[in-house]
Amino acid sequence: MRKLHVKSFGCQMNVYDSNRMTDLLTRDSYMETAAPEDADLIILNTCHIREKAAEKVYSELGRIRKLKREATRAGRKVIVAVAGCVAQAEGQEIVRRAPVVDMVVGPQNYHRLPALLAQAERGARVVDTEFPIEDKFAHLTPPTAAAIRARGVSAFVTVQEGCDKFCTFCVVPYTRGAEASRPVAAIVAEVENLANAGVREITLIGQNVNAYHGEAANGRPVTLGHLMNSLAEVPGVLRLRYTTSHPRDVDDGLIAAHRDLAILMPQLHLPVQSGSDRMLVAMNRRHTRAEYLNAIARLRAARHDMAFTSDFIVGFPGETEEDFSDTLRIVDEVGFAGAFSFKYSPRPGTPAADRQDQIADEVKTERLARLQECIERHQSAFNRNCMGRNLDVLLEKPGKIPGQLVGRSPHLQPVQVMAPSSLIGEIATVQITGIGSNSLFGALCSTQAREPALAGAGG
Ligand code: SF4
Repeated sequence: MRKLHVKSFGCQMNVYDSNRMTDLLTRDSYMETAAPEDADLIILNTCHIREKAAEKVYSELGRIRKLKREATRAGRKVIVAVAGCVAQAEGQEIVRRAPVVDMVVGPQNYHRLPALLAQAERGARVVDTEFPIEDKFAHLTPPTAAAIRARGVSAFVTVQEGCDKFCTFCVVPYTRGAEASRPVAAIVAEVENLANAGVREITLIGQNVNAYHGEAANGRPVTLGHLMNSLAEVPGVLRLRYTTSHPRDVDDGLIAAHRDLAILMPQLHLPVQSGSDRMLVAMNRRHTRAEYLNAIARLRAARHDMAFTSDFIVGFPGETEEDFSDTLRIVDEVGFAGAFSFKYSPRPGTPAADRQDQIADEVKTERLARLQECIERHQSAFNRNCMGRNLDVLLEKPGKIPGQLVGRSPHLQPVQVMAPSSLIGEIATVQITGIGSNSLFGALCSTQAREPALAGAGG
């Protein structure tokens, strides 16, 4: 049987897409290999978010060129594909610049891989980055129980793709297209399949997941809160999460879901990017600082133990020291449990990249250091507050030390605990006895036989 190696870069959506490509190709003609040098088909599933993303792909392709040359010398044909957001953004340019590449496949087109592969095997160089009219998901293969078990007790499920927001720094609307949502029934079926094979935690993913507006059984579109209510009834699912959300799409239904569904974890990643209204307008974020804080307050009123994480960009074009102070203030006001923060870096083709008032790199570096110090102060306080408390931890996998398991708290903190591997997939009560830099340490108190809970326990 021929061998497939998929290398995934970037976000959870790419991890999910890589798994679905693997499911599709291992259905009949390929088996997976972790070693690219053994593979007959190599797929790079690329990400366009990072700086110089395309250049990094070309240098990775340089390494693959050597592997392909050696395989050819040994009389073995290797097909190389570039998928994901760089494939979408660069298209034909990739086959022009990198003769090693046989196929370029956009994120909306990978359901066509078997047909494209057949063309590539006949010697054609194939580029497929048109946004298709058919539903990609309807053409994919569900993962086998063995594949699901190998991927662990926590799984991602894409429910929404694309973005209509056009923030002035972001390439997603150009690479992933307009907002589109999968129907409720298809998502429920996928979650049932995962839960039947032992998955206990589902994270719903989408570039703008809370803009979800998929079709319900009656043909009408419903929101993410409604979808969450349907998924809470799937037997075996113990926890639900979702990411990434946009502040503008935090609606009453989502807030009610946090209030009513105990299996919806009290944690939300809600990017704000800046605490300055002037910068939020320049970024075309379509929400104000006050609206963001109001969404946080309403979620906390619905569920008092909500924890929030966020994303920040410092040194966006035109950012003054006063704008930056507003960002520091919003970190203090919300008290984030954690956040990702980056220096602004221009993405070709986005409006902000063309602005003349770019900020000097040393200013960005200095502001980033101050912001990260502020974020870390709040994150440490949040973690210290867990000391001595009993937390429900979903035990996910073996830790680095023999006899140790690693799991996640309701607030997504990694927790290390000595516990038998038979407890993987269970929720255990763990008393927190230590705080590390990236995780908590705890002692096992008990495991709980749990049914998925509905209603009222969030409080
Ligand atoms: S909402 Fe998110 S994905 Fe959409 S353009 Fe803005 S940053 Fe990009």
